[in-house]
Amino acid sequence: MSTTTELSKIWLSSPHMGGQEQTFVNAAFAENWIAPLGPNVNGFEEDLKQYIGNEKEVAVLSSGTAAIHLALVQLDVSKGDEVICQSFTFCGSANPILYQGATPIFVDSEPSTWNICPKALETAILDRISKGKTPKAIIPVHLYGMPYLVDEVATVAKKYNIPIIEDAAESLGSTYKSKSCGTFGDFAALSFNGNKIITTSGGGALVCKDKTSKEKTVFFSTQARDNAPHYQHSEVGFNYRMSNISAGIGRGQMLVLDDHVALRRQMHQFYKDIFNEIDGVDVLSEPSQDFFSNHWLSTILVDPKLTKGIDREQLRLHLDTYNIESRPLWKPMHLQPVFAGMPFYGGKVAEELFAKGLCLPSGSNLLDEDRDRIKSAIFEVFKN
Ligand SMILES: *Cc1c(COP(=O)(O)O)cnc(C)c1O
Repeated sequence: MSTTTELSKIWLSSPHMGGQEQTFVNAAFAENWIAPLGPNVNGFEEDLKQYIGNEKEVAVLSSGTAAIHLALVQLDVSKGDEVICQSFTFCGSANPILYQGATPIFVDSEPSTWNICPKALETAILDRISKGKTPKAIIPVHLYGMPYLVDEVATVAKKYNIPIIEDAAESLGSTYKSKSCGTFGDFAALSFNGNKIITTSGGGALVCKDKTSKEKTVFFSTQARDNAPHYQHSEVGFNYRMSNISAGIGRGQMLVLDDHVALRRQMHQFYKDIFNEIDGVDVLSEPSQDFFSNHWLSTILVDPKLTKGIDREQLRLHLDTYNIESRPLWKPMHLQPVFAGMPFYGGKVAEELFAKGLCLPSGSNLLDEDRDRIKSAIFEVFKN
């Protein structure tokens, strides 16, 4: 094999344009809709609404983090409140809790989906209630595209009457019992960041239960302007609306979303086939027919006890010598310095996932020659 300097980088997940994006962007230029409103904004919202089943309303925003923030705002989360959040996630799930001056209460994962454990969730709720505060919201995450235990989490949330903000940032195209992720919560956040399954370069959306709630989201995302000829404000707003240029990219990406899902699922099968032949490495897969993951990222757990001592770090560094990007799984929020001292409920599931897990290149734009390089690099580590 040639040396690293000659090899092009194989990324974990890079933007993949379908071809029609520029048509929508050009239309925005032609009509001078260079603003956070316009036909692409409306069109992208309608496309997303149809895609997830036509039962919800969608407001497109500047990011997925902004979407979670505006859900918290509309659920009246404020200083001194508590919000439960899956610990095993990206910081964008949890940071908005701090923006509102509230306290995140972190909950561990369960091993079948790697997402929030319904039992630890109930323990957390009961303990917070016994300490005098009912949590204002629950933020479960469909991490890496894998749906969380939707029914079990909904049962607990309903029992204590706590709204759910579904973090579907990584799971557009995933379903649970044939229903789209992003439709299970009181609100749901989507992300179109550069590394997600579709991208608008940066962007997000808040899925809302009805038109009133969508209008409220748009209101808060455009500086909470009252109905008056001058600029009049009775509430604190935000500058979070998506631009008509970004939304044009989004409309083009919607045309290839299902292709991207199919290609990412093929990458998952590619890794399943490889690791079938290697003891001690498991590829995260759907626990039953109820789950359909977009497999945004293909992820593995490496158990050094069964691999003659080879661990995930050795694999990661070896892939790196072939200019192949891989990355440890998300570091749980309860172990992050910025969230030190925040309450945590559960055991060591998320912590062990972080210790043993690795994300592998999963993009829908990978080529056969990329797959060949990845495959031989993996076999080199494990077959020596
Ligand atoms: C990407 C992501 C977010 C935040 O989305 P941005 O658009 O990057 O702000 C939130 N939660 C999870 C799990 C994510 O992966």
